[in-house]
Amino acid sequence: MITLGKRALLGAGLATLAAPAWAQGNYPTRPITMVIPFAAGGPTDTVGRLIAQAMGANLGQTVVIENVGGAGGTLGAQRVAQARPDGYTILLHHIGMATIPTLYRRLAYDPINGFETIGLVTEVPMTLIARRDFPASNLAELVQVVRRDREKLNYANAGVGAASHLCGLLLQKAVDAPMTTVPYRGTAPAMNDLLAGTVDLMCDQTTNTTEQIRAGTVKVFAVTTPEPIAALPNVPTAAQGGLPGFEVSVWHGLYAPKGTPRPIIDRLNQALLAALQDPNVARRMADLGTAPVAAARATPEVHRQFWQADIAKWRPLIQAAGQYAD
Ligand code: ASP
Repeated sequence: MITLGKRALLGAGLATLAAPAWAQGNYPTRPITMVIPFAAGGPTDTVGRLIAQAMGANLGQTVVIENVGGAGGTLGAQRVAQARPDGYTILLHHIGMATIPTLYRRLAYDPINGFETIGLVTEVPMTLIARRDFPASNLAELVQVVRRDREKLNYANAGVGAASHLCGLLLQKAVDAPMTTVPYRGTAPAMNDLLAGTVDLMCDQTTNTTEQIRAGTVKVFAVTTPEPIAALPNVPTAAQGGLPGFEVSVWHGLYAPKGTPRPIIDRLNQALLAALQDPNVARRMADLGTAPVAAARATPEVHRQFWQADIAKWRPLIQAAGQYAD
């Protein structure tokens, strides 16, 4: 414990030295890059662009989105963990921050100690969807088709560590049938293939699926929350559809590289809070089945505690599933 504490202090001290004094006083003096570790146009990108715009207005500088997709969100996280801790490179990431430390045995960055937390952003429900002509009309029928035809079916996801991967693991456990998975750099390109009918199934966040569901371009079977959601009132929960326990909500948080000075973290947190309280952000999020977290949860401390607790929650489940990325 003592050694860790000393290391942390030393790390913070070095970082403060590394960042020039002006960087803290006048911060920010130039645009900030927000890395999204998945493809453009997908669910995390949608949340990121919404808050980036509102944060930029508060900071008086543009927050530029950089999509660094691939490897289940680890490439984007690595990019930020290895960036200068000066407040000009930040990361919007999701629940993968809690599963990746266990799922990946080898990473080129430290998935736990490589980051400062800025605050939680939102929690997004997931929906189980299929290509429009999938031969099932409700969850019970889908389970039968998956059990019968699993050799032939393809499940799209955004790589090991993605929310769509995690949801797929829960689904395969619930129906007791492994499926062939097809990994993409994000669920935006996966959605394109689902719309084209070249993959069969996907479980994805409502920030990417709500509009397709409303337009009838995909078939929806369930939402992964305990209660139905207002944005999609006619979609049953998985429990209502016969799969109790098939529940997952995808939390998102904002991070900076380890050693980013506390005054900069506080300034970014202030901008995040302003974004979360922006009525336009809240309205758009509600339309997509989600909501900004309450201000009390959007602090660096609550975010860190929540993240650490989620790492501990997922570790035994992943170990029991025995599916790792090597
Ligand atoms: N969040 C990812 C994306 O934006 C997908 C996922 O995690 O499943 O594409």
